[in-house]
Amino acid sequence: MRPYELIKRKRDGGSLDADDIRLFIEGYTEGDVTDYQMSAMCMAVFFRGLDPVELTAWTRAMLESGDVLDLSDTPGVKVDKHSTGGVGDKVSLSLAPLAAACGVVVPMVSGRGLGHTGGTLDKLESIPGFEVDMPVAEYRRLVKEVGACLIGQTSRLAPADKKLYALRDVTATVDCLPLIASSIMSKKLAEGIDALLLDVKVGSGAFMKSIEEARALAGTMIGIGKEMGKRVVALITNMDEPLGRTVGNALEVVEAVEMLRGRAPADYTELTLALTAEMLVLGEKAPNVEAARAELEKVIASGAAEAKLKELVVAQGGDAAAIEDLSRLPRAQHTVAVLAERSGFVTRIDSEAIGLAAMALGAGRERTTDAIDPAVGFFLDRKVGEAVKASEPLVTVHYNDDTCLEEVKRRVLAAYSVGDAAPLARPIVVERLE
Ligand code: URA
Repeated sequence: MRPYELIKRKRDGGSLDADDIRLFIEGYTEGDVTDYQMSAMCMAVFFRGLDPVELTAWTRAMLESGDVLDLSDTPGVKVDKHSTGGVGDKVSLSLAPLAAACGVVVPMVSGRGLGHTGGTLDKLESIPGFEVDMPVAEYRRLVKEVGACLIGQTSRLAPADKKLYALRDVTATVDCLPLIASSIMSKKLAEGIDALLLDVKVGSGAFMKSIEEARALAGTMIGIGKEMGKRVVALITNMDEPLGRTVGNALEVVEAVEMLRGRAPADYTELTLALTAEMLVLGEKAPNVEAARAELEKVIASGAAEAKLKELVVAQGGDAAAIEDLSRLPRAQHTVAVLAERSGFVTRIDSEAIGLAAMALGAGRERTTDAIDPAVGFFLDRKVGEAVKASEPLVTVHYNDDTCLEEVKRRVLAAYSVGDAAPLARPIVVERLE
């Protein structure tokens, strides 16, 4: 395999065979294919794409660059959910215990927040003591005994992707459909799952800004799943405003626990139920989504879903008392309201701008090495479609450090549009694909 030849062939619109791709990616993981050669290859893929055979080979090579977890000693269908990333997206925190309370096995490898999007691991770590790093044997034990375990990506899961993602980030090749799809799928398939549910976000706070782009990404990932013998279902869901009313790590944990108590905002509740119902069907715990939703209502009403979250928190070293009594979670010292400048109805909330403002406040990170403050964030007093009077709060900012406060308030205010009439309500689940 000569890297030069393969790059040239892809550049000129030819196809690569599966062995060439495997050797190229193996070579890159081991350092024999250089960063500049891989950069050139990614740019060629950006312009020329990958056909279905190439895409499967590319994903398989990344998947096989590290360990593929074996969960075969745990009975039952193992199902994970992956979200392409949004603002205020705390679905995993409620979905994992809900699905596990209904008997689905949920091995979940999650990520950290970066840029305007939050990450499940940061949210979980705002629960005192919660541990997201553990040896694989311990992860396997918890998946078996608790029915769910939420950990971070280890250096042994799809290491080629870790290296490649960092390279793409600095070579303008992140926003490339086959590279995104293979990156996500290689990591997910390394978890040892049987089926996968995708939450593909579309809208102002999402990677995919249009429904066509979201459909293309979902379809590509479903295709990879099929080639690999896994069932994959995708819901395309609205990220035109932040999900629920909270953005910020501990604030989102509070809202997630409230969801398990049946008291969360409608959009977040509906999305969690819609996604978890699909998990139950994929996990063969319900014959259809209607029956699944009835099961979910039962475990919420009985308290079994919250009990499962507490079991999961204790199993991962966390303080279950902080779930019981949410005032024990980290809390910011100060709050201040961002006030509406005029009366009317909220017509739009730019999710990406809210996510970036949360990052500036310290709730998220610009670089992977930045520290975050688990207590800070926003409570959205007004969501899209709601009425507001001039000088009433749009958002309550929870903060500890006022260095960037004025800038954050300015950004939050600019993210809101207030008009004369409420816009038509949009469903949170836009489309289902499989
Ligand atoms: N998320 C991933 O895991 N990979 C990408 O390439 C983009 C988003």
